[in-house]
Amino acid sequence: MVAENLKAVESRISAACQRAGREREEVTLIAVSKTKPETMIEEAYDVGQRDFGENKVQELIRKRELLPEDIRWHLIGHLQTNKVRAVVDKTCLIHSVDSLHLAEAISKEAVKKGCTASILVEVNVAGENTKFGVAPEETIHVVEDIAALPNLKVEGLMTIAPFVDDPEDNRPIFSNLKKLSVDIAAKNVNNVCMRVLSMGMTNDYEVAIEEGSTMVRVGTGIFGERDYAAGQ
Ligand SMILES: *Cc1c(COP(=O)(O)O)cnc(C)c1O
Repeated sequence: MVAENLKAVESRISAACQRAGREREEVTLIAVSKTKPETMIEEAYDVGQRDFGENKVQELIRKRELLPEDIRWHLIGHLQTNKVRAVVDKTCLIHSVDSLHLAEAISKEAVKKGCTASILVEVNVAGENTKFGVAPEETIHVVEDIAALPNLKVEGLMTIAPFVDDPEDNRPIFSNLKKLSVDIAAKNVNNVCMRVLSMGMTNDYEVAIEEGSTMVRVGTGIFGERDYAAGQ
């Protein structure tokens, strides 16, 4: 089932790229495997999927130890400063940096470990107060402050759009994040590049790609509904 779903998602990504006049290579598909067992991740791995997303540090660390070394792990969920030590140098990208304070903790740990941490700044474009993320109007300043920290590289921006029935409703959210990234890129801040725009989930990734997404995070569309009651 996983392999078939991946194929279907893949063809929808290609179609969206084509509509937008973009190359397929510009978009990375992150398979969001949170709550799902290693066996399902292996199914995806066996058909060539290498980028996986988890939203909990412990779960990411556990799966990482059990699964092939060439998997690229993305941390996409809210990160608390007390979990930073466990995750720095275990992920290829932390998508959810939402404060200078958190960035400072990541930087400190990266210095200690002698590595460079790649991060995205999470922006609360929709302004929902249930969501984490920096306010759009504060983003440039936060990015500048974070960029000054050692052993850390700002690779772009991330947003979680609201859950909506019609994905078209999220189009302005995605185009606003794109605009913001273009504005920030124009400032040529040292240590900052805006090559990544992490936006789009199962319900709206095609619209996100049309608006410039370079990383889509697809869970349900690949692995099926999550069953939190099962305690996984
Ligand atoms: C769970 C999650 C996703 C995947 O959501 P689906 O709707 O299942 O595709 C993407 N991004 C983040 C940050 C998530 O927590």
